[in-house]
Amino acid sequence: MLVLEDVHKVYGKGKDKKVEALKGINLKVEKGEIFGVVGFSGAGKSTLIRCVNLLERPTSGKVLINDVNLLELSPKELRKERRKIGMIFQQYNLLHSKTIFKNVAMPLILEGRPKAEIRKKVTELLTFVGLEDRMDHYPEQLSGGQKQRVGIARALATDPDILLCDEATSALDPNTTEAVLDLLRKVRDELGITILMITHEMNVIRDVCDKVAVIEHGKIVEQGPVIDVFTEP
Ligand code: ADP
Ligand code: ADP
Repeated sequence: MLVLEDVHKVYGKGKDKKVEALKGINLKVEKGEIFGVVGFSGAGKSTLIRCVNLLERPTSGKVLINDVNLLELSPKELRKERRKIGMIFQQYNLLHSKTIFKNVAMPLILEGRPKAEIRKKVTELLTFVGLEDRMDHYPEQLSGGQKQRVGIARALATDPDILLCDEATSALDPNTTEAVLDLLRKVRDELGITILMITHEMNVIRDVCDKVAVIEHGKIVEQGPVIDVFTEP
């Protein structure tokens, strides 16, 4: 379970340069839920997701994963805790000079895992995302949707509890988007992974999310089950 309690983020210093990107965010994402955060450009979505994986440190508040506050951990504990968070990106962030196999293996190589274990795990992951026949290819040989499936396989390499998706389908056409969303449903249903996604694409939220929060100017203005939030009273 992922909980944000009164998370604030202020960028910059001084009266003129200060930007209050998050103004007290409260969120609760249950295990096995697909939770969407939707909002216009500049609303604070990226800041929010970066505060969960601690690419940014919140100015105040709590970020709890299974009741552990990430902001109170030592660097060593934090490294361990961050294995539980996988992330995928709009532009996939694959290494172009490395094969698909190597891209997916990278988190495990960096941890110094034994080669045999890496081979087994990467083969399993690529089979899970349906790209086992592409392991010797390079990213440029794949379509956008296939690259995102590689991104998902890589994010799953450390067996995370939570998958963060940053505009994961925004670079894709509608058909490919649908295939990636199907895969995210499979990640939730078969692996029980909790998914937090930020997007400006309303149709994606409607299609795949259980719950949604609407963010405006750094504040959540509405949240709840998708059918409640997006249905006119
Ligand atoms: P979104 O992802 O919804 O487009 P962001 O989280 O990127 O929103 O931005 C929220 C606000 O914070 C915006 O006003 C943006 O200009 C500001 N902001 C984002 N990142 C930084 C930064 N590194 N330094 C200063 N201001 C930032
Ligand atoms: P390097 O970048 O050091 O030359 P490689 O890319 O050849 O290394 O491979 C690193 C490790 O990953 C090796 O143990 C290799 O056997 C394994 N590996 C690479 N590609 C595959 C693959 N398609 N199937 C199974 N194992 C692979």
